[in-house]
Amino acid sequence: MRNFNLNTYAPKSMATSSFYDDQKFCHECDTYVAYLVSAEASYCTTCGSKVRLLSKQDWGMFASTLKPAKQKGGRPRKKRSTA
Ligand SMILES: [Zn+2]
Repeated sequence: MRNFNLNTYAPKSMATSSFYDDQKFCHECDTYVAYLVSAEASYCTTCGSKVRLLSKQDWGMFASTLKPAKQKGGRPRKKRSTA
């Protein structure tokens, strides 16, 4: 008879996420920091400056991976209304 051990397939606990997983980049501290979220922006808990999701470097890398989907001839021409 086959003997499957179902216990090994039990889902891992989801309660392992730590507070420090949530960090943004502070240009004043020049590092990723914990932050406070307000309605308009997020602020460094260390120096109070606005923080960004990514550092400039990381943002550049991220943006470079996003290739603009430009397609020649895919755009409709302007309609002329010279009737
Ligand atoms: Zn800071």
